[in-house]
Order: sequence, then C-alpha cells, then structure tokens
Amino acid sequence: MEAMSERVAGVRAAFAALYGGDPALWVQAPGRVDLMGSHTDYNEGYVLTMPIDRTTWIAARPRDDRQVRIHSLNLESGEAFSLDGGIQRSAAVPWTNYVRGVAKVLQDEGYALCGFDGLVHSTVPFSSGLSSSAALEVAAATLFNALCGLDLDPVRLAVLCQRAENTFVGVNCGILDQYTSAAGRAGHVLLLDCRHLTHTVAPIHPDIRIVICDTRYKRALTGSEYPQRRAQCEAGAAALAAITPGVRTLRDVSLEQLDAARSLFDEAVYRRARFIIQENQRVLDLAGALSAKDVPCIAALTAESFAGARDLYEIVVPQMEAMIAAMRCAPGVLGARQAGAGFGGCMVAFVERECVPAFGEHVRAAYQAATGIESAVYAVEAAPGAGLLAVG
Ligand code: ADP
Ligand code: MG
Repeated sequence: MEAMSERVAGVRAAFAALYGGDPALWVQAPGRVDLMGSHTDYNEGYVLTMPIDRTTWIAARPRDDRQVRIHSLNLESGEAFSLDGGIQRSAAVPWTNYVRGVAKVLQDEGYALCGFDGLVHSTVPFSSGLSSSAALEVAAATLFNALCGLDLDPVRLAVLCQRAENTFVGVNCGILDQYTSAAGRAGHVLLLDCRHLTHTVAPIHPDIRIVICDTRYKRALTGSEYPQRRAQCEAGAAALAAITPGVRTLRDVSLEQLDAARSLFDEAVYRRARFIIQENQRVLDLAGALSAKDVPCIAALTAESFAGARDLYEIVVPQMEAMIAAMRCAPGVLGARQAGAGFGGCMVAFVERECVPAFGEHVRAAYQAATGIESAVYAVEAAPGAGLLAVG
C-alpha cells in the first residue's frame, strides 16, 4: 500500500485541481473484518470484529452555503446536492447516496448541518466484505460531526449511519460494519454485543497476524440471498417466540430449545438457526483464544465456523472452498474461515507472525492453480476507529 505521505500528497493535489486551494479538515474511517460471527449481527448476537488499516478518507473544506459537493477519487465521479428542500436519491451518481443518506438521516434527527467541498479516497476494496460502504458513511458522518459541532458519540454515529444504509440506500444491513468503523480501537479486537450496542476490547496475541485472503470472486447473482437468510432467521425466532417466553431473536435461543422445537420449522430455517446459535457461542470462545494464543481452540472454532457456513447457512461458493483449502495447507496457519456475508469476497486467516510471507506465497499459488484466479493476500493491523486525520 502506498505510504501515508504519498496518499496525502495525491489527495491534496486532486483537491486543489478540483476545488482550488487546500482542504481545511481531513477525516478517516476504517474498513473492518469479522474474525468470528457471520450473520450474527442482525440476530442481535455477538461478533468478534476488527477495524483494519484500509481506510476511507474525506478531505474537506466548509462552504458558506448549503451545498455539498462530493467527489470520489476511486470512481472519478461526483455530484453536488443541497441540504435544503429534502435530500433526494441520485440515479446519476449512485455512490453519492451513501453521503446523501447520512446527511438526510442527520437532518431528520434535528442536527444542523453545513455544506462542504469534499474529496473521497479509499483503500478499502469495494464489495469484498471489508465494508467500504460503512467506511464511506462513517467518514461522512465523522466529517459532519467535526464540521458542524454535532457532538455525536461513536455508537450514535454508527446507528445513524446504519439507518442511512437501511432506509436511504436500501440495504438492510446489521450494525456490525458501522459500529466497528466508528468505535474501533488500534491494536485491539472488539467483542460486539449487537443487542445492547456495547463492546469490550481484547488484545490479539502479539505472535498472531490477521491475514485477508481475497477470492476476487464477486457473485453475479441478484443479491437476494442476504435478505432471504435474514427472513429465515426472523421466521425461526418468531416460531420460537410463540412458544417460549422471553425469546425475541435467535440470540435468546439455546440449541436445546431449538432442537426441542424442531418440528415447527422447515429444514432450511432449522439449519440457519442452528448455525447462528453455534456461531454466537464461537464468538465468545474465540475472543479468549486469540488473546491467549490457544492454538487448538483457534483451529477448531474457525474450522467449525466454515463448516457451518457451508453446510448450515449455505453461504459458501466453490471459490471459497478452493481458498480455504489453500489457506489450511499454508505455512504458519493457525485457523481460517469466511469473512463478510460470504458468497465470495474476502476470507480471513490467523497466521504466525514470522510466517506471513510464506503463507501468502503458498495461498496465492495454490488458489490460482485451483481456480485460475489471481487472489490478493495481505496482512492487516487493528486500526483506530473513525476520527480526524492529522496530515501535518
Ligand atoms: P462493501 O461494503 O462490502 O465494500 P457494498 O456493496 O456494501 O460493499 O458497498 C460498495 C459500494 O460503496 C461501492 O460500489 C460504492 O458505491 C460505495 N463506495 C464505497 N467506497 C467508496 C468510495 N471511496 N468512493 C465512492 N464510492 C464508494
Ligand atoms: Mg457494505
């Protein structure tokens, strides 16, 4: 990845070319990787999650009027919109809807916003499961927060960004991505409780590095799988709630309760619910194992998570099978599993620190031999959560 100073220089030059002069303010928001907890967030469960040193920046300068001008260096496109008169969705430059949505939700909540000229630049890969959309939303909200003195705390900011993605962009995501980006802490993983919107932090053992293995496979289907999984979980929880006091979501259900009520569900709903209940427990177990470098535990939990994703939640595609095979045979691997929503995108490995180069070489070669696809394999650090960026 390019050095920080080169990135700053590039953004500054582009800002001058586009708007003239210098930015007054820089903000950053990180992407994230889930270390355990696939699809648990919208079941009000737990996730072990980490903000990564792949970030979205916005360099900005306030305006005297009510215009927001926003441009992305990644997509070389942009648009202006007014904060007055009801913010509308853009059909011409759809990515601006993430920024428009954040502005609309903030204004609907009664926050007084001001206009700006802004330039976006991101090192988070798009649509790969590392959450570039949340990084963009959280960067935009962080910018409004600083520019307009809104005094939003990270959790409130995350909730409003999620609302923007749900209601304005139209993606029914859980809170995981925005929460991690807004509230992350450098050098730590977050154990996130998605019901209570609280988290604890835990260090990762210094010998262990987190390595992203990108299948570079993006599903070409309609994207209906995610809402379908969500609906199946809700159906399972509703059936159990009808017979079990105190059950609101799958978070509240034990495996014993699920099995006792098995006749209530169709087979697919049962499998989905079983995965979520087990995955929640794995999140709690992995947090301790990562801090203590409990190698057998890390290996077992990650293997069970992937097996469940494949057999119960059914979010695994052949490219992910090829990648997990490559990861499992690579030098220094302690554990490997899916990341993000599945169906391709990135996967995650826990690797002995000194073995990272050899691990990467093996994975790239083995995955390419199996699929013909050139992957991307890179270690990430636990980065700070969103905030102002000191560019010097
Ligand atoms: P993910 O969040 O997993 O990366 P999404 O499909 O949710 O995938 O979000 C990706 C979309 O977010 C992109 O297609 C683009 O519309 C928008 N986006 C994210 N980062 C940027 C950026 N730096 N510039 C412009 N658009 C961005
Ligand atoms: Mg996203």
